[in-house]
Amino acid sequence: MAMNRRSFLRTVGAAGVASGLLPMVRGRGLEAATGGSPLPWLAGDIRLDSNENPYGPSPEALKAIAGWYGEAGRYPDFVVRDLRAAVAKSLGVPEDALLFGCGSGELLKIAVEAFVAPDRHAVTASPTFETIQSRATSLRLPFKAPRVDGSLRLDLDAMVAASPGAGLAFLCNPNNPTGTLHPTAAIEDATARILKAAPEAIVLIDEAYFEYVDDPGYRTMIPLALAEPRVIVARTFSKIHGMAGLRLGYVVGQAKTLERMRPHIAPNNVNVLAAGAATASLGVAGHAESEARKNLGAREWTTRLFTDLGYTVVPSQTNFVMVDIRRPVPAFREACRARGVAVGRPFPPLDSYARISMGTMEEMQRAAVVFREILA
Ligand code: PMP
Repeated sequence: MAMNRRSFLRTVGAAGVASGLLPMVRGRGLEAATGGSPLPWLAGDIRLDSNENPYGPSPEALKAIAGWYGEAGRYPDFVVRDLRAAVAKSLGVPEDALLFGCGSGELLKIAVEAFVAPDRHAVTASPTFETIQSRATSLRLPFKAPRVDGSLRLDLDAMVAASPGAGLAFLCNPNNPTGTLHPTAAIEDATARILKAAPEAIVLIDEAYFEYVDDPGYRTMIPLALAEPRVIVARTFSKIHGMAGLRLGYVVGQAKTLERMRPHIAPNNVNVLAAGAATASLGVAGHAESEARKNLGAREWTTRLFTDLGYTVVPSQTNFVMVDIRRPVPAFREACRARGVAVGRPFPPLDSYARISMGTMEEMQRAAVVFREILA
């Protein structure tokens, strides 16, 4: 029988504290999670390669993880039930408008499996977050990927033009890896045109970096996903909530649309610790805002750094920046790596653009010494 949650937390929380979990609970990030000594193979490295949140989960989320250890031997149903209620409440959506995944990456993969077919291609972009293209490629399904425009924003007109006959269109806004944003009105317009041009298509709008955006012309597309059965929105706990290693994301859409994706999901694809941590993280007042503020400080500082060095930085609304380093990325990346700084992989066809994720301000200042030395 499922234990009442409060009594469970009282018991296991106390046990967790007694078994020495407190130091981890108090701190944040890698060092906290490894008891103060980083894993040997990461020693000293500054990891600016995967658009993670350098601060990791909130203290409240770490505490929740410790509290849920005792439930790790059980299937996650009732923890996920709490999570569903918390996410629905935080977004103001019905509970059946949510489908959870092992990261939003799982749900992107599943969108290809559910909506793309040999005679119904995917529309994605080049470059954008790669799962749509990579899953279509591995299933030998067709896709069209118009190149981003001269400002490295999604070329929405070209994507609309590529959509007749499509089963899925993927609009990543802001876009990874370019960091660029379209105002909501432009995405609404493109979505309407795709829905018209491709009567079978589902439009998947990826809002992985939603909380980092400060452009006043930007709003979530979740209201459209609730109103229009052929629109879904993907979100993740990997970025602003700092939980990339825990693996949790979700899509929002009408229940009957989500039903088409559900058969592709593994049973119990959300684990107890991720669900518990995410529920706790949602309950922390002002958490997203404070993470976004720290990120903005680091992003503005890093943008100035490269601009002062004479390089063009693509205006970003995310937790990373694309810098035109005017040389091939692989050699720059290897040189950074040799000096203990990991930066993003190459993103063809943008061969001279390095993607640099935001670390803490202290990490960015240390990385700047390396960037200056290599780019001098
Ligand atoms: N969408 C975008 C735009 C991303 O950048 C990422 C991860 N970098 C994902 C989805 C997948 O994130 P996750 O699977 O960790 O939720």
